[in-house]
Order: sequence, then C-alpha cells, then structure tokens
Amino acid sequence: MHRRKFLGLMGAAGAGSVAASTARAAGGKHFEGYPDSFAVLFDSTECIGCRECERACNEVNNLDQPERPFDDLSVLETKRRTTSNAYTVVNKYDVPDQSAPVYRKIQCNHCMEPACASACFVGAFTKTELGAVTYDPSVCVGCRYCMIACPFHIPAYEYDKVLEPRIMKCTMCYETRLIKGELPGCVDACPKEALVFGKREQVLQLARRKLQTYPDRYEQHIYGETEMGGTNWLYISGTPFESLDMNTELGDTPAPKFTSGALKLVPGVVALWPLLLGGIYAVSRRKDKIAEQERQQSVEDAVAETKEQARKELEEFKEKAERDRKKEVDKAVKKAKEELEAERKDEQGGSDE
Ligand code: SF4
Ligand code: SF4
Ligand code: SF4
Repeated sequence: MHRRKFLGLMGAAGAGSVAASTARAAGGKHFEGYPDSFAVLFDSTECIGCRECERACNEVNNLDQPERPFDDLSVLETKRRTTSNAYTVVNKYDVPDQSAPVYRKIQCNHCMEPACASACFVGAFTKTELGAVTYDPSVCVGCRYCMIACPFHIPAYEYDKVLEPRIMKCTMCYETRLIKGELPGCVDACPKEALVFGKREQVLQLARRKLQTYPDRYEQHIYGETEMGGTNWLYISGTPFESLDMNTELGDTPAPKFTSGALKLVPGVVALWPLLLGGIYAVSRRKDKIAEQERQQSVEDAVAETKEQARKELEEFKEKAERDRKKEVDKAVKKAKEELEAERKDEQGGSDE
C-alpha cells in the first residue's frame, strides 16, 4: 500500500460496523453528510494523463476491457464521460497561455448530501460513513431519476443489458477495497501524487496548504469544498475550473435541499479565509531559494506527518468491521444451534408420545 497517498487525522474515525455506519436516503429525505469521512484530493497540476487510474478502476471493478487499451493515449484527444464500463475517465484540456496540456480525472464526486440518493425513491443509494456513495442494484427499479438528479452527470445505465440493467458509477472502491483497509484502486495506481486519500478535513488542510504555499501555481479555490453542499472528491487546479469543463455555477446549496427544504449549515471554513489570505500574501513575498525549500518542506511535512495516522484509522475501521462481522456470525450460529435444539426436543417429545 502506498502510504504517501494517505492523509487524514482530525479525530477518531467513529467507525462502527459497516451496516451500522451507513445512512440511507430515499426521496424527500436528505443527508447531513459525514464531516469525519474520507475524501480524495485531485491535483490537476500533478496529473500527467497516463490513464493508470482508469486501468486500475477497470481491474478493481472487473469491467470489460475498453476497445482501445489503456496505454493508448490518443483517446485523450476526445472528451469523454463516465460510462457503465468506465467509472472514471481522464480528459485532456489545451488551455490558452499554457504550454502543456492539463488533465482532469472524472468520476462520482461522492457528494456529502447526494442528489442521486435524494432522488431515488427506493433508497438504492447509500451515503456511507467513510464518505463513499454506494448503490444497491437489488432494490433499483431502473427509473433513472438519479441520472437526471446528479449535477455532475455521473451515473450511467447499462443500456446494453436486456436483463436487469444497473446504474453504474464509481463507488470509491467501498466494497472492494475501502472496507478492507485499502486505498481506492485509482489512488493506489496513480504514479504521481495527483490523487491523495485521507480524512476530508485533513485533505482540505493539505489543499489549503498547497494553495497558500504556491499562490502562483494554483487557482485559489478548492472545488468540492462547498459546491452542492460539499463533496468527498475534491479538486485543486492551476487553471480556472471552467477551462476544465467543471461547472462553477452550481452554488453551495446541497441538492437535497431542493427536495426536502432542510439545509445543513455551511462549513465554518469561511471564517478561516482572512487568515488564509493573510498567509498567502506573506508567503508570496518570500522568493529566495531558501524560502522555496522551506515551502516545499512544509507541504511534504504536512503529507508525511498525517499519512501514517490515516493508515491506522482505516486499519482500525477494518478491524472493527471484522469484529462486528464475527459477532454477527456467532449470533447466527448460536441461533441455528438453538433452533436445532428446539427441533430435537420437539422430535423427542413426538416419539415419547
Ligand atoms: S456526483 Fe452524482 S452520482 Fe455521485 S454522489 Fe453526487 S449526485 Fe450522486
Ligand atoms: S475510487 Fe475505485 S471505483 Fe472510483 S474511480 Fe477510483 S478505482 Fe474507480
Ligand atoms: S493515474 Fe494519476 S497521473 Fe495518471 S492520469 Fe490518473 S490521476 Fe493523472
């Protein structure tokens, strides 16, 4: 496991059993998000468009091989969207005044208060305590309201499947990796630090640190911090988000507010902006080489300091989930024994008569 890609600390995971730690939303209800959940930070200035994340996603989710292999980078010449067979895609953008192309990875943003879940009247989507938004095909009725509701146009439908088509989207590798204490497949596979996984609050702190440390390198905004009530997949970029085809007019109101009328509080980070801007001003004046080294060091320290703790937290979650699963099994065995015993007694009673 690549520990460099871990981040996060900010309090205990609060991880109960997997079953107990999930919240469902059917139509009319809305989530309040999980402030202590995990998140992924995508840094477009680090991404080299290698598509290794796409390859990993394909493998982890056992999806069909694409027509053109993952090492064929000519596919980047076309703008793509996620499909039922590609939960994530990387697109290339030629930005004016920028010598090199910029890449953006697209997948489900794992909204804190997901519109897909809010629109789904049978509760096929679950916002888990870890941050992932998962989908249960066994209850899905195929109405595709989730596809209409998603502000990021993510859920895809298996139109080619005649029998029981499903909605397909990134699950943050919840079942396949997260609950086993492993990083999401794409994060693990990324050869750069374009993808960093950790507690959402810690990931936000890293993003802020980067913005503050390299004010000339980054747009001063963390996409997903507040958009649509916040997401568990966050983005920072060296070019305006609009130039990466990202919708910057979504607003901060969680989508379920439009259906439920309830609204949770805007994250208190707004109060930190004066401090942050002050920091940016101070840092931007330090231009000598030593200051640059210090800046680099501070970002590296921020990553190094916290990744081991995040790894432990995920490990603890896994162990707790394991213990809870064992308890469930023990309970089931005990119940089966009791039933057998009762049957045996019944039979004995019958033969005595
Ligand atoms: S990005 Fe779309 S599919 Fe993903 S959680 Fe948000 S609303 Fe749902
Ligand atoms: S988190 Fe998992 S499912 Fe989502 S894009 Fe990455 S590899 Fe694919
Ligand atoms: S693996 Fe990392 S560097 Fe390569 S395309 Fe994906 S996000 Fe970018």
